[in-house]
Amino acid sequence: MNEILIKNTTNAFEEKFGTEPKTIVLSPGRINIIGEHVDYNDGYVLPAAIDKVICFAFEKNNSTTSKIFAIDLDEEFEIDLNSEMKLNNAIWTNYFSGIIKYLKEAGLSFEGVNCTFSSNIPIGSGLSSSAALECGFLFGLKSVFNFEISKKDMALMGQKAEHWVGINCGIMDQFASVHGKKDKVMKLDCNTLEFSYHDANFSDYSLVLLDSNVKHSLFTSAYNTRREECEEGFKMLKENFPSLKTFRDCTTDQVVEIKDKLSPNVYKRVDYVVKEIARVSLACAALDAGNIEVLGQLLFDTHEGLSKDYEVSCAELDALVGYAKDDASVIGSRLMGGGFGGCTINLIKKGQEEAVKEKFAALYDKEFGIELKAYDVKISEGTSLYKG
Ligand code: ADP
Ligand code: MG
Repeated sequence: MNEILIKNTTNAFEEKFGTEPKTIVLSPGRINIIGEHVDYNDGYVLPAAIDKVICFAFEKNNSTTSKIFAIDLDEEFEIDLNSEMKLNNAIWTNYFSGIIKYLKEAGLSFEGVNCTFSSNIPIGSGLSSSAALECGFLFGLKSVFNFEISKKDMALMGQKAEHWVGINCGIMDQFASVHGKKDKVMKLDCNTLEFSYHDANFSDYSLVLLDSNVKHSLFTSAYNTRREECEEGFKMLKENFPSLKTFRDCTTDQVVEIKDKLSPNVYKRVDYVVKEIARVSLACAALDAGNIEVLGQLLFDTHEGLSKDYEVSCAELDALVGYAKDDASVIGSRLMGGGFGGCTINLIKKGQEEAVKEKFAALYDKEFGIELKAYDVKISEGTSLYKG
């Protein structure tokens, strides 16, 4: 599948710039097995890079202007590296100027490139095409100009670029895109950025994403309010239990103890966060032990929390998880990503994948009149050079 993408990207480069690109970069989207909305709440997450990628072709152009061609949009962007970086109405260009802005601020030395890129990561479905853009472009410049930047700093710079574009995201997406490894998930400590790889062995089950094909506009505002609500909740926890350093030190008992001091919403948010942080460790242990049924149940529990307590689900996602609960071939399902649309991640008994997809698509069409898309995902390498 990616071979066609690579061919298209290099062909477009040759057409546009008249030379063969020497540097090809593949930068993946990501999934997150569990640990939702805890990356900005002192938690752990369990992401992995997937086999859906943005392909970039690069070549130095011996000038101080970069020329970037977005093949999928048929749009071009020229950027003078000596000018001040500014936000632009064409959103996609901002990820690129953001990376350039922060590379300059870090004092790294580079010049202009010609660049084309094309993607098979669905946009806005929660697979983080934006992180793939940031990390892929950054990795390409690093490869072309041979500057030193660690993987960790690449992820942090990608995150800064995303903040500049306007989403106050945590570090998970860029981290997963940069550090991904074939057949491994990463348990990432979002505070220290320490991480460990674990085998992504789901034994008799396959990972399938079901795309609700909706994106409700509540997303950004809710994201920012949830952050504020959690901050407020933690402040109250700390006032009552001064030895607490972060959410991860909290117990559910402590949350219950201060229930009366919190607004009902803040209580629910905090309760979710503390339980979700605990679920990530349980999920990791279940995965390591090959106990995939336990992992599946944890996914269902996370969805329940996201829907009822954190309140970032929507009717479409709740319905998809409902179909999964009613089907014995699906042992776990939850909304993945920020919520209010995008995908659910599902563990489906091997051999039953197609039957489940067909059945759910029919149910979903009947209930909402919307087409259900399904993506089989394989856990793959992080952002890297394509060597042909
Ligand atoms: P996601 O969940 O996919 O990261 P975001 O809204 O965070 O969704 O980022 C999507 C943005 O990334 C798009 O609005 C667009 O600006 C940019 N983008 C993603 N894929 C492409 C692409 N193939 N071509 C151009 N821009 C892209
Ligand atoms: Mg994104």
